[in-house]
Amino acid sequence: MIEMRNVDKWYGSFQALKDVSLTVLPGEKIVLCGPSGSGKSTLIRCINHLETIQKGEIVVAGHRLSDSQKVVDAVRREVGMVFQQFNLFPHKTVLENCILAPMRVRKLSRADAEATARRYLERVRIGNQAEKYPAQLSGGQQQRVAIARALCMEPKAMLFDEPTSALDPEMVKEVLDTMVSLARDGMTMICVTHEMGFARQVADRVIFMSDGEIIEENDPERFFSNPTHARTRAFLGEIL
Ligand code: ATP
Ligand code: MG
Repeated sequence: MIEMRNVDKWYGSFQALKDVSLTVLPGEKIVLCGPSGSGKSTLIRCINHLETIQKGEIVVAGHRLSDSQKVVDAVRREVGMVFQQFNLFPHKTVLENCILAPMRVRKLSRADAEATARRYLERVRIGNQAEKYPAQLSGGQQQRVAIARALCMEPKAMLFDEPTSALDPEMVKEVLDTMVSLARDGMTMICVTHEMGFARQVADRVIFMSDGEIIEENDPERFFSNPTHARTRAFLGEIL
Protein backbone atom coordinates (compact mmCIF):
# COMPACT_ATOMS: atom_id res chain seq x y z
CA MET A 1 0.00 0.00 0.00
CA ILE A 2 2.80 2.39 0.97
CA GLU A 3 6.41 1.68 0.13
CA MET A 4 9.43 3.87 0.90
CA ARG A 5 12.77 2.70 -0.43
CA ASN A 6 16.07 4.16 0.74
CA VAL A 7 14.66 7.64 1.13
CA ASP A 8 16.91 10.59 1.90
CA LYS A 9 15.37 13.97 2.68
CA TRP A 10 17.38 17.15 3.07
CA TYR A 11 16.22 20.57 4.24
CA GLY A 12 19.04 22.62 2.72
CA SER A 13 22.20 21.21 4.26
CA PHE A 14 20.35 19.38 7.06
CA GLN A 15 19.51 15.73 6.47
CA ALA A 16 16.13 14.96 8.04
CA LEU A 17 15.65 11.40 6.68
CA LYS A 18 18.54 8.98 6.28
CA ASP A 19 18.04 5.93 4.10
CA VAL A 20 14.50 5.31 5.33
CA SER A 21 12.78 2.17 4.04
CA LEU A 22 9.29 1.22 5.10
CA THR A 23 6.64 -1.09 3.71
CA VAL A 24 3.06 -0.76 4.87
CA LEU A 25 0.71 -3.51 3.75
CA PRO A 26 -3.00 -2.96 3.13
CA GLY A 27 -4.82 -2.86 6.46
CA GLU A 28 -1.63 -2.53 8.49
CA LYS A 29 -1.45 -0.08 11.38
CA ILE A 30 1.91 1.50 12.09
CA VAL A 31 2.72 3.67 15.08
CA LEU A 32 5.69 5.93 14.57
CA CYS A 33 7.40 7.39 17.62
CA GLY A 34 10.67 9.03 18.54
CA PRO A 35 12.11 12.19 20.06
CA SER A 36 11.26 15.67 18.85
CA GLY A 37 13.12 16.46 15.66
CA SER A 38 13.72 12.81 14.76
CA GLY A 39 11.91 13.15 11.43
CA LYS A 40 8.47 11.66 12.12
CA SER A 41 6.45 14.48 10.57
CA THR A 42 8.90 14.71 7.69
CA LEU A 43 8.47 11.00 6.98
CA ILE A 44 4.71 11.08 6.75
CA ARG A 45 4.66 14.42 4.92
CA CYS A 46 6.86 12.86 2.24
CA ILE A 47 4.24 10.17 1.67
CA ASN A 48 1.73 12.64 0.30
CA HIS A 49 4.35 14.88 -1.22
CA LEU A 50 3.99 17.78 1.21
CA GLU A 51 7.78 17.43 1.22
CA THR A 52 9.95 16.34 -1.68
CA ILE A 53 12.74 13.81 -1.33
CA GLN A 54 16.22 13.90 -2.76
CA LYS A 55 16.95 10.18 -3.01
CA GLY A 56 15.07 6.90 -3.03
CA GLU A 57 11.50 6.31 -4.03
CA ILE A 58 8.01 6.29 -2.59
CA VAL A 59 5.17 4.27 -4.07
CA VAL A 60 1.64 4.81 -2.79
CA ALA A 61 -1.20 2.57 -3.96
CA GLY A 62 0.74 1.79 -7.11
CA HIS A 63 1.63 5.41 -7.88
CA ARG A 64 5.35 6.15 -7.89
CA LEU A 65 5.69 9.67 -6.49
CA SER A 66 7.23 12.31 -8.70
CA ASP A 67 6.74 16.02 -9.24
CA SER A 68 3.99 15.28 -11.76
CA GLN A 69 0.89 17.05 -10.45
CA LYS A 70 -1.22 14.21 -11.82
CA VAL A 71 0.64 11.68 -9.70
CA VAL A 72 0.58 13.91 -6.64
CA ASP A 73 -3.19 14.42 -7.01
CA ALA A 74 -3.69 10.68 -7.43
CA VAL A 75 -1.69 9.96 -4.27
CA ARG A 76 -3.51 12.60 -2.25
CA ARG A 77 -6.82 11.06 -3.28
CA GLU A 78 -5.65 7.77 -1.78
CA VAL A 79 -4.19 9.00 1.51
CA GLY A 80 -5.96 11.21 4.01
CA MET A 81 -3.97 13.24 6.49
CA VAL A 82 -4.85 14.56 9.93
CA PHE A 83 -2.58 17.06 11.65
CA GLN A 84 -1.97 18.16 15.20
CA GLN A 85 -3.58 21.51 14.43
CA PHE A 86 -6.87 20.57 12.87
CA ASN A 87 -6.44 22.83 9.82
CA LEU A 88 -10.19 23.27 9.27
CA PHE A 89 -11.36 26.22 7.20
CA PRO A 90 -12.57 28.64 9.90
CA HIS A 91 -15.10 30.47 7.73
CA LYS A 92 -16.82 27.31 6.51
CA THR A 93 -19.24 25.16 8.43
CA VAL A 94 -18.39 21.63 9.44
CA LEU A 95 -20.43 20.30 6.54
CA GLU A 96 -18.82 22.68 4.04
CA ASN A 97 -15.38 21.68 5.31
CA CYS A 98 -16.26 18.09 4.52
CA ILE A 99 -17.73 18.54 1.04
CA LEU A 100 -15.20 20.88 -0.60
CA ALA A 101 -12.53 18.39 -1.61
CA PRO A 102 -14.95 15.60 -2.57
CA MET A 103 -16.75 18.03 -4.90
CA ARG A 104 -13.58 19.54 -6.32
CA VAL A 105 -11.39 16.47 -6.51
CA ARG A 106 -13.76 13.51 -6.64
CA LYS A 107 -16.27 15.50 -8.74
CA LEU A 108 -19.18 14.49 -6.53
CA SER A 109 -22.39 16.47 -6.84
CA ARG A 110 -23.22 18.64 -3.83
CA ALA A 111 -26.00 16.24 -2.83
CA ASP A 112 -23.71 13.21 -2.98
CA ALA A 113 -20.90 15.04 -1.18
CA GLU A 114 -23.31 16.10 1.57
CA ALA A 115 -24.67 12.59 1.96
CA THR A 116 -21.12 11.24 2.24
CA ALA A 117 -20.16 13.97 4.70
CA ARG A 118 -23.17 13.32 6.93
CA ARG A 119 -22.37 9.62 6.93
CA TYR A 120 -18.79 10.20 8.09
CA LEU A 121 -19.78 12.89 10.57
CA GLU A 122 -22.14 10.32 12.10
CA ARG A 123 -19.30 7.84 12.03
CA VAL A 124 -17.16 10.12 14.23
CA ARG A 125 -20.22 10.87 16.39
CA ILE A 126 -20.59 14.47 15.43
CA GLY A 127 -23.51 14.35 13.02
CA ASN A 128 -25.47 16.91 15.01
CA GLN A 129 -22.78 19.61 14.60
CA ALA A 130 -22.76 19.79 10.81
CA GLU A 131 -24.04 23.36 10.58
CA LYS A 132 -21.62 24.82 13.14
CA TYR A 133 -18.37 26.63 12.50
CA PRO A 134 -15.08 25.14 13.76
CA ALA A 135 -14.67 27.79 16.46
CA GLN A 136 -17.99 26.71 17.96
CA LEU A 137 -16.63 23.21 18.62
CA SER A 138 -14.29 21.81 21.25
CA GLY A 139 -10.81 20.73 20.21
CA GLY A 140 -11.79 17.07 20.31
CA GLN A 141 -14.83 17.74 18.15
CA GLN A 142 -12.75 19.76 15.68
CA GLN A 143 -10.26 16.94 15.39
CA ARG A 144 -13.06 14.46 14.74
CA VAL A 145 -14.33 16.78 11.99
CA ALA A 146 -10.82 16.75 10.53
CA ILE A 147 -10.89 12.95 10.56
CA ALA A 148 -14.35 12.87 8.97
CA ARG A 149 -13.22 15.37 6.35
CA ALA A 150 -10.30 13.13 5.41
CA LEU A 151 -12.59 10.08 5.30
CA CYS A 152 -14.95 11.86 2.91
CA MET A 153 -12.30 11.37 0.23
CA GLU A 154 -12.66 7.62 0.85
CA PRO A 155 -8.90 7.20 1.18
CA LYS A 156 -7.14 3.84 1.13
CA ALA A 157 -4.83 4.93 3.95
CA MET A 158 -4.76 7.56 6.69
CA LEU A 159 -1.75 9.42 8.04
CA PHE A 160 -2.02 10.94 11.50
CA ASP A 161 0.55 13.40 12.83
CA GLU A 162 0.15 13.68 16.59
CA PRO A 163 -3.61 14.14 16.31
CA THR A 164 -4.15 14.31 20.06
CA SER A 165 -1.19 16.32 21.25
CA ALA A 166 -2.89 19.72 20.92
CA LEU A 167 -5.97 18.54 22.83
CA ASP A 168 -6.93 19.02 26.44
CA PRO A 169 -6.53 15.70 28.26
CA GLU A 170 -10.26 15.07 28.60
CA MET A 171 -10.66 15.18 24.81
CA VAL A 172 -7.85 12.84 23.92
CA LYS A 173 -9.92 9.73 24.48
CA GLU A 174 -12.74 10.63 22.11
CA VAL A 175 -10.26 11.14 19.28
CA LEU A 176 -8.31 7.98 20.11
CA ASP A 177 -11.59 6.03 20.25
CA THR A 178 -12.39 7.28 16.74
CA MET A 179 -8.97 6.14 15.54
CA VAL A 180 -9.34 2.75 17.21
CA SER A 181 -12.69 2.26 15.53
CA LEU A 182 -11.19 3.20 12.17
CA ALA A 183 -8.39 0.71 12.78
CA ARG A 184 -10.89 -2.03 13.64
CA ASP A 185 -12.64 -1.35 10.33
CA GLY A 186 -9.43 -2.27 8.56
CA MET A 187 -8.08 1.14 7.55
CA THR A 188 -4.39 1.25 6.66
CA MET A 189 -2.85 3.75 9.08
CA ILE A 190 0.43 5.41 9.95
CA CYS A 191 0.08 7.27 13.22
CA VAL A 192 2.70 9.50 14.74
CA THR A 193 1.75 9.44 18.37
CA HIS A 194 3.16 9.03 21.82
CA GLU A 195 -0.08 7.48 23.04
CA MET A 196 1.41 4.15 23.89
CA GLY A 197 -1.91 2.72 25.06
CA PHE A 198 -3.19 3.29 21.55
CA ALA A 199 -0.05 1.68 20.14
CA ARG A 200 -0.54 -1.43 22.27
CA GLN A 201 -4.19 -1.61 21.33
CA VAL A 202 -4.01 -1.26 17.54
CA ALA A 203 -0.48 -1.20 16.16
CA ASP A 204 0.76 -4.12 14.11
CA ARG A 205 4.21 -2.56 14.32
CA VAL A 206 5.75 0.22 16.34
CA ILE A 207 8.59 2.06 14.64
CA PHE A 208 11.10 4.13 16.53
CA MET A 209 12.97 6.95 14.80
CA SER A 210 15.96 8.90 15.99
CA ASP A 211 18.00 11.49 14.08
CA GLY A 212 16.26 10.80 10.79
CA GLU A 213 16.72 7.04 10.90
CA ILE A 214 14.48 4.11 11.68
CA ILE A 215 16.33 2.61 14.60
CA GLU A 216 14.03 -0.18 15.66
CA GLU A 217 10.68 -1.71 14.81
CA ASN A 218 8.71 -4.51 16.36
CA ASP A 219 5.25 -5.64 17.31
CA PRO A 220 4.03 -3.62 20.31
CA GLU A 221 4.40 -6.48 22.77
CA ARG A 222 8.10 -6.92 22.06
CA PHE A 223 8.75 -3.25 21.38
CA PHE A 224 7.65 -2.24 24.85
CA SER A 225 8.81 -5.28 26.82
CA ASN A 226 12.15 -5.75 25.14
CA PRO A 227 13.46 -2.70 23.27
CA THR A 228 16.85 -3.63 21.91
CA HIS A 229 18.40 -0.28 21.10
CA ALA A 230 19.76 1.98 23.83
CA ARG A 231 18.09 5.03 22.25
CA THR A 232 14.73 3.27 22.25
CA ARG A 233 15.12 2.36 25.90
CA ALA A 234 16.06 5.92 26.79
CA PHE A 235 13.04 7.26 24.90
CA LEU A 236 10.61 4.80 26.46
CA GLY A 237 12.08 5.59 29.86
CA GLU A 238 11.12 9.21 29.34
CA ILE A 239 7.59 8.78 28.05
CA LEU A 240 6.27 5.73 29.92
P1 ATP B 1 8.28 16.66 16.65
O1 ATP B 1 8.11 15.47 17.57
O2 ATP B 1 8.81 17.83 17.38
O3 ATP B 1 7.06 16.95 15.85
P2 ATP B 1 9.46 15.36 14.32
O4 ATP B 1 10.04 14.03 14.65
O5 ATP B 1 8.13 15.39 13.67
O6 ATP B 1 9.47 16.26 15.64
P3 ATP B 1 10.32 16.81 11.99
O7 ATP B 1 9.32 17.88 12.08
O8 ATP B 1 10.15 15.77 10.95
O9 ATP B 1 10.53 16.09 13.40
O10 ATP B 1 11.72 17.49 11.80
C1 ATP B 1 12.91 16.73 11.63
C2 ATP B 1 14.08 17.69 11.55
O11 ATP B 1 13.98 18.46 10.36
C3 ATP B 1 14.15 18.69 12.69
O12 ATP B 1 15.48 18.85 13.07
C4 ATP B 1 13.60 19.96 12.10
O13 ATP B 1 14.19 21.07 12.70
C5 ATP B 1 13.97 19.84 10.65
N1 ATP B 1 12.98 20.50 9.79
C6 ATP B 1 11.67 20.19 9.72
N2 ATP B 1 11.03 20.96 8.81
C7 ATP B 1 11.98 21.78 8.31
C8 ATP B 1 11.97 22.82 7.33
N3 ATP B 1 10.84 23.15 6.67
N4 ATP B 1 13.12 23.45 7.08
C9 ATP B 1 14.27 23.11 7.71
N5 ATP B 1 14.35 22.13 8.63
C10 ATP B 1 13.22 21.48 8.94
MG1 MG C 1 6.34 16.28 14.18
